[in-house]
Amino acid sequence: MLSVTRVGRRISPGSLLLVSLVAILAVSLALGYHALTTTRSHRASVEGALRHYASMAAWEYSSVVREDLNTVLRMVFDEVTREWRGFGDLPELRIVAAELRDVAREYRCECRSLQSPLAYFRIDLQDSTTIALPDTLNAGTLSSLADTVTRHQRQQADKRAGLVMLPAGSLLESPTLVTYSTAYGRRWSARALYGFVTNPGAYGELLAKWFTAQPLLPPAITGTHPNDSLLYITVHTGSNDTLFASGAPYPTTYAARDTMPAEYGGLIVAAAIRPDVAGRLIIGGVPRSRLPLIVTLLLITLGLGTAALFQLRRERQLARLRDDFVSGVSHELRTPLAQVRMFAELLDSGKLRTQQERDRSLGVINREARRLTQLVENILQFSRSARAAVDLKIERLDVARTVSEVIEAFRPLASAKTVSLESEIEDGLGLRADRDALSQVLLNLLDNAVKYGPEGQTVTVRASRAGNRLRLAVEDEGPGIPRTERRRIWEPYQRVRSGAKRAAAGTGIGLAVVAELVGLHDGRTWVEDALGGGARFVVELPGATGSLEPSPRPISEASG
Ligand code: ADP
Repeated sequence: MLSVTRVGRRISPGSLLLVSLVAILAVSLALGYHALTTTRSHRASVEGALRHYASMAAWEYSSVVREDLNTVLRMVFDEVTREWRGFGDLPELRIVAAELRDVAREYRCECRSLQSPLAYFRIDLQDSTTIALPDTLNAGTLSSLADTVTRHQRQQADKRAGLVMLPAGSLLESPTLVTYSTAYGRRWSARALYGFVTNPGAYGELLAKWFTAQPLLPPAITGTHPNDSLLYITVHTGSNDTLFASGAPYPTTYAARDTMPAEYGGLIVAAAIRPDVAGRLIIGGVPRSRLPLIVTLLLITLGLGTAALFQLRRERQLARLRDDFVSGVSHELRTPLAQVRMFAELLDSGKLRTQQERDRSLGVINREARRLTQLVENILQFSRSARAAVDLKIERLDVARTVSEVIEAFRPLASAKTVSLESEIEDGLGLRADRDALSQVLLNLLDNAVKYGPEGQTVTVRASRAGNRLRLAVEDEGPGIPRTERRRIWEPYQRVRSGAKRAAAGTGIGLAVVAELVGLHDGRTWVEDALGGGARFVVELPGATGSLEPSPRPISEASG
């Protein structure tokens, strides 16, 4: 049977996460947009409903006003017709004045400017004479009044009565409102026009009464709330002269208007729902804008996505660093192991005749074994510190002794690269520290100095005391550390990036172990330029005792 193996391209978890993040962002955007449009259309329909209520109220009020105005006009002018009945002389103007007072009484209204109009007038349509009370209006004003009112009356389909709004200057200096009625003679022919001139606000009090008289919105919606707690209403002319305003100027978010017929002066009733009660008229209230919420959520999603991407990048970097570490460790292990094997086999084969050759081989095996030990120690220390499982055994150390022990142990490794080791240690220096930790710190620094410095160089170890702190410095004659890298190299897996590639292989954990062990002693580390070029790695540890003699070559502190 033929078996078919499909070799598909493996998708890395990173790309999968990236695709998922983009998808999540796209879905969030789509959901956000959808929520936004839904809220907008909900809001638009709610606003539409509120504007509809406003238009209902405007229409209702306009009807109330027309009906009541008709009643008022009938009350005022019917008496004229009753008096006259189409025969004899036209009734006198006084009757209109008396009737206006009756109206005020009837409506229990002070109506000062309605009770005392600026003038009463009568236009005789037969002989075109106009008389006015008081008779202070000049002939020009009278004829202009007669022209305007007669023209208005002629233009109306219903010619019985009417309101004419006159802007300032067209009759008097201020805007005026003319109210008139037609007196019919025999055979329903228009015989005369009776009327009076007031300021535009003359009906204000009556309009206010009619505003509160009955609900302008269906009580099923508004409950028992009075009109003025729900609505603002104004009545004004086309040229914006106000006859009545139910309150202070109002916001027109939910507003509508109704224009009365021409016989009522084309007055405009504008109604607006008070924004603070709009929510009460709509079940569930007026929806608030969701934009800030949606934008915040999108920003959070974006923030989380970016954080995840950063994390991903960091993990990739770590993975790469770990790979470098593993290959570095393998390389570091392989070289000494090969040496140990080779020289052990030589010894075993008996080919080495002289004692000197045998001693040299043993020396190499010893040296490489030490290097292996140091490497393994570093890795163990590194893994222990990652698990926070480091126990220090603090004891009082003789610094000069500990340092020279380490130097002596390290000498074979140094001489393999013809490196001379020197030390300048103040006499009598003591330190409270962990012996193994201090040795490992020094070994790592020495190892780096030899590894990265040139053959034949001199590596110097200095120890001195500054206050109660011990300063231990390892100087080499190598390339030194660029300023920009001086902080980074103390972190795990980090190696110098810039400049020519440093020849030596490494694991990138030597200095991290140094920093960790010194940190456990509450000390600090830094690197600076050595006086003769090269690098000076400095370790400062608390707990120093003994000599306070100035060190032979003072080490100037400059943080790396
Ligand atoms: P490793 O030596 O295994 O790479 P370390 O943590 O000991 O790791 O050192 C980190 C890096 O610091 C090294 O890779 C090297 O680039 C740089 N370095 C350390 N010591 C020296 C030195 N004495 N001279 C020049 N560069 C050094």
